[in-house]
Amino acid sequence: MKSFEDAAAFHGHVCGGLAIGYKAALYAAELLDLSFSPDEEVVCITETDSCAVDAIQTVLGCTAGKGNLIVHRWGKSAFSFYQRDTGRSLRLVLRPDAGEQSDEMKALRARVFSGAASDEERRRYQTLRQQQVEDILRMPPEALFIVKETELPLPAPAVMQDSAVCSVCGEQAAKGFCSVVEGKYVCRPCAERMKLNLRN
Ligand SMILES: [Zn+2]
Ligand SMILES: [Zn+2]
Repeated sequence: MKSFEDAAAFHGHVCGGLAIGYKAALYAAELLDLSFSPDEEVVCITETDSCAVDAIQTVLGCTAGKGNLIVHRWGKSAFSFYQRDTGRSLRLVLRPDAGEQSDEMKALRARVFSGAASDEERRRYQTLRQQQVEDILRMPPEALFIVKETELPLPAPAVMQDSAVCSVCGEQAAKGFCSVVEGKYVCRPCAERMKLNLRN
């Protein structure tokens, strides 16, 4: 299993969000008996595009390129995991009181991000952030997440598609994503532009 350090190396920095994603991936692996997914065996649908997602990619091998990672930008720390061959799944939802920042940390964070923080405040913020990450990593997963049933349907496995050449822009696109206008293939962006033109 990949370590938190592996996740940090992939993500680029250490933060609370990454720690939450790491714990979610480990918890799902434990409950559903998952391991790193070289192909599409494990699918994750996240309801946030936060730092947490990068830890899930590292630990479980759910990636955009393989089609077994679907990211909804809904701003919710909720992660659904599916095991294709057994059909088992679960949804982990971060408890509202878990991973919360202290008032001191919130105040410092505002100063650091507005550029108003002194060097001392910056160092204190780093220390608190490090502590928060360590706290999250040490917490039992059931204290961090509520386990629920999945609600979102499992996406179909990725399929290889034939390509067509768009009759508008001349670029190649997978047929399944093209519209057919007057017997000719039109790629998604060109079709969107045509619709906009019609409306104007
Ligand atoms: Zn981060
Ligand atoms: Zn086109």
